[in-house]
Order: sequence, then C-alpha cells, then structure tokens
Amino acid sequence: MSVGYTTGSALADTAAPTGPIEERWDERRFTAKLVNPANRRKHRVLVVGTGLAGGSAGATLAEQGYHVVQFCFQDSPRRAHSVAAQGGINAAKNYRNDGDSVRRLFYDTVKGGDFRSRESNVFRLAQISTQIIDQCVAQGVPFARKYGGLGVYLDFRDAITRLGRAAVEEKYGNLFDMYQQITAENPYEVPMRIYPAIHYTMGGLWVDYDLQSNVPGLYVIGEANFSDHGANRLGASALMQGLADGYFVLPSTLADYLARNPLPAVDPAHEAVRQAESEVGDRISRLLSIKGTRTVDSFHRELGTLLWEQCGMARSESGLRKALDRIPQLRAEFWRDAMVPGTGEQFNQELEKANRVADFLEFAELMVLDALQREESCGGHFREESQTPDGEAQRDDEGFSHVSAWEFTGVGADPVLHEEQLEFEYVHPVQRSYA
Ligand SMILES: Cc1cc2nc3c(=O)[nH]c(=O)nc-3n(C[C@H](O)[C@H](O)[C@H](O)COP(=O)(O)OP(=O)(O)OC[C@H]3O[C@@H](n4cnc5c(N)ncnc54)[C@H](O)[C@@H]3O)c2cc1C
Repeated sequence: MSVGYTTGSALADTAAPTGPIEERWDERRFTAKLVNPANRRKHRVLVVGTGLAGGSAGATLAEQGYHVVQFCFQDSPRRAHSVAAQGGINAAKNYRNDGDSVRRLFYDTVKGGDFRSRESNVFRLAQISTQIIDQCVAQGVPFARKYGGLGVYLDFRDAITRLGRAAVEEKYGNLFDMYQQITAENPYEVPMRIYPAIHYTMGGLWVDYDLQSNVPGLYVIGEANFSDHGANRLGASALMQGLADGYFVLPSTLADYLARNPLPAVDPAHEAVRQAESEVGDRISRLLSIKGTRTVDSFHRELGTLLWEQCGMARSESGLRKALDRIPQLRAEFWRDAMVPGTGEQFNQELEKANRVADFLEFAELMVLDALQREESCGGHFREESQTPDGEAQRDDEGFSHVSAWEFTGVGADPVLHEEQLEFEYVHPVQRSYA
C-alpha cells in the first residue's frame, strides 16, 4: 500500500521582522522582552540533546541563571554526533583580507542551499558567525576553517613529509584513530578510502524566526532546525549554525517567550506527564511482547539499504514508489516478528534500539513521500527525471520555491502538507552549475 497526502493551510513565518535585512536581528532583540535575572532561576528549561547546539544552549542559559535540565540518549553526553565533525566552521571573519564578509557568507549560504532556505534566518546566521569563533576561542575550542578535500582516496603522505607526522597527528589524530578502528588500515601509511556520502538528508523541524516550532514553547536548534541550510549544507555551515542557535539566538528568543507567557508550575503528577508515561509504558510492553525471530538490526539494515538506494543523493519516481511500497510492509513485519530480548526493568540496549527503529520506520515513509512529491533536482538531491539536456540538475523554482512542512497524522493515515512560500528579496535565484 502506498500512502497519499492531503494539502493543508499555508504556513507563514510571522515572527520575522520586516525592514532592511541587516537590521532585522537587532530589531528582534530590541523588541524581545527580558527575564529579570533574579527570576531566571524560577524557570526550568529542558534541553534535549548535548551536541553542539544543545550544549551551547544549555551552557549559555545556565550561565544566565536559568535552571537547566539537559537530556541525551547516549551513554555519555559527549557522544553526540557533533563529535564526528572534524572539519571546519564557516564565519565571516575576513582573516588576512581573504574576501570574507557577512554579505558574502549570506549570499554563499543562500545560493549553496539552492534557494530553499529563509533569507532572514541566513542573514542572521552570517552576522552571528563572527561572534561564534570568539566565543569558541574564549572557551578553548580548537577549530579549523575548511573541510578537507573530497576524492576517492585521501592521501596524507605529502602532508606528513612536509609537516611531519606529529603536526598531522595533532590536527587529525582523533579522526585517524576512528578510521583505523573502522577499517583496520593505518591512515598514516595507507591512503584513506573515502566516499562522497549523503552527509545530510535536508530537513528538520519547521520553526519560525525565533526558532520556535508549531508547539508553543518548543524551540528547535542546530541540525534539527530546517531554516538555514536549504537544500544543501555548505561544508562547515552546520557547526556554525549549531553554535549560532545555541549561544546567541535561542537565549534571546526563549527569554522573550518566558517573559511573555505565564507558565504555571508542573510536576510529575501532572496529567500530561502521566499520559506520556503510560504511552511509553504501553509501547515498551508492546515491543517486548512481540517475541519474534528477526533481529532489530536486520530491520534497521534493510530500511537503511532501501533509503540509501532509493532515496539517496539520486532518486527517481519509480525507485521512490518502490520504497513507499516496501516500508509499510517492513513496518508490519517489524511489529509482527521483531526479536527484542530482555526486559524493560533494567538497562536494555536492544529495547532502546527497537524503539528507535520503530520511529525510523514511521519517519522513513514520510521522507520518501516528500522526496516523491518534490519533483525537482535541488541542492544535495538529484531527481533523475529533473535534469537539463546536458545532465545538470534542474531546479523548478516555479513549482517548488517553498518549504514543505509535513504534519504527521498517525501510522497509515495520510499526512498533511503545509507549504511556506520562500521570498528572495536580496539574493535572486540563479541556476547552480555542478560542472
Ligand atoms: C562525520 C561527520 C563529519 C562532520 N563534519 C562537519 C564539519 O567539518 N563541519 C561542520 O560544520 N559540520 C560537520 N558535521 C555536521 C555537524 O557535526 C552536525 O551538524 C552538528 O554536530 C549537529 O549538532 P547538533 O547539536 O544539532 O546535533 P547532535 O550532535 O546530533 O546532537 C543531538 C543530541 O540530541 C540527543 N538526542 C536525540 N534524540 C534524543 C532523545 N529522543 N532523547 C534525548 N536525547 C536525544 C542526542 O543524544 C545528542 O546529544 C559533520 C557530521 C558528521 C556526522
């Protein structure tokens, strides 16, 4: 069975200030209400995630005096996928007159995202980028400016001869260790095998200029914030965004929300907490009672392979339809035959994994549907039916100059598509050439 969708009301970012783009963030901060420092400790802010975005937000909010409670699901808060980022960070620093400016970074980011991000948000990101590096340096965070090159092999022999092994080790030792653990090859001696992978699936949660989602009081930052990257991440813009959101944007906009909204105290006896607990309990019991024969890993692998093959960098209508047929079957098989050993009474990694794979099985279907509906090649995604006669990616600005925000309405039910039209006042769309 393949799922269709319905079209819902249009979305608009009503939190974005108007006026000259250079002044919008200052204007927003000026109109934002402040929380009196003496009152901050009365607010409990829950931060889900300890990566760059959650970490920087938690640190800043705690420093400002809020009561911060921070969550993560790894065994250590340091294990967020932020740890994998070994390359650079962008910023409009104009080091040694290298031609940087806020305007150039803004322009490059909008164009790099293939005109599918919001101008106001990206301009703010470029403005704030200059402060991020100063903040990181003050905290002792090492950073580089650029990604390494991409090829089939990455050979460090010349660099080692030129700079010495110690210099290369100091810079990349951590990455080399991980590589050696995974491949059993020594990257100091043998060229690294690398692959141009789908670094990202573009997307995230819909947020307004304040980074508030459609759920009041729920803010979304970092990689989960859809609004800055458009249809493509520029190398090194993810670190910039995570830190910009966490250090600088959220602390201002969240304060405005807290100052304007009376928030009654809630405790664990609250009806909503009890309901959430009972739903989680039911789901855990359901997973443990399947007692099937097929490992969760094998479901995960099949789903991953399906997405990799049919909804990767290149995708076609027929492949996407194939995936849309298979995912609901796979999900039904999962709930009928998954093997989840152990109990829910103690730490149980298999149970935890099963919970996440169950989520992936729902999310994957929506992701494939979105890819099918967006009949254009754009940014990091090449839709095979949408190419120029000489094989270049063909964007369709008339049909798809919008954000597609999908409302999940339950398993097996049609999701609802809400569109937010994108306006380009400052950077006018041009066709990107990958030649
Ligand atoms: C191999 C690799 C190399 C990269 N290199 C670069 C680079 O050179 N430059 C660059 O700019 N970017 C790079 N990136 C991208 C960059 O690392 C990420 O965009 C960035 O780290 C994301 O940070 P984040 O805080 O938004 O999310 P994450 O670091 O993914 O953190 C998410 C957090 O949320 C928590 N969490 C998730 N779900 C739950 C839940 N249900 N309950 C509780 N906690 C939960 C997790 O435990 C984690 O702490 C790279 C990424 C990878 C994978």
